[in-house]
Amino acid sequence: MVEFKKGESVNGWIFIVEIKGRKYYDITRDRTRKNRTGIFICPRCKKEKEQQFGNVTGRSPATNCNSCKIAKNNLKHGLKGTIDYALWKAIKTRCYNEKSTGYKNWGGRGIIVSPEFKNEPKIFVNYIKQLPNYDFNRSGHKGVTLDRINNDGNYERGNLRWVTMKVQNNNKRKKDV
Ligand SMILES: [Zn+2]
Repeated sequence: MVEFKKGESVNGWIFIVEIKGRKYYDITRDRTRKNRTGIFICPRCKKEKEQQFGNVTGRSPATNCNSCKIAKNNLKHGLKGTIDYALWKAIKTRCYNEKSTGYKNWGGRGIIVSPEFKNEPKIFVNYIKQLPNYDFNRSGHKGVTLDRINNDGNYERGNLRWVTMKVQNNNKRKKDV
């Protein structure tokens, strides 16, 4: 079992503290698994970030955090300011920002964004656009809203659909009982 000390440098990452019990989606095994994670200071942006231990150790450790990657992607994808990009950001916030108001109902319940979508807004947007009932002109969340088919499932391919607010509320109510 690897143990790091607070302030220790691990391949350029500064270890702060381990987070117990966090779940991750493992794309190679196509299921959610537990993995050791912790808060590390990113070598590039110098901000405290959550990282899986495996990402900072091993033969090819990451050289920066996902936010650094997102900052780079934002320049390329051309989606900034679109309603679909705002949706992608809002989903990430409720799943990963522990300070956000929605966190307890999403991230706090182990709901994650699949690796396919997590740092790839363009792939996410292209996917939701081809789902039935996508409404390009929806204003805010009037009309249809993006819903997870399995309310305990993740934001991932196969578990997303556009529904009216009414359907979504019914779905939630059923699952809450
Ligand atoms: Zn960073």
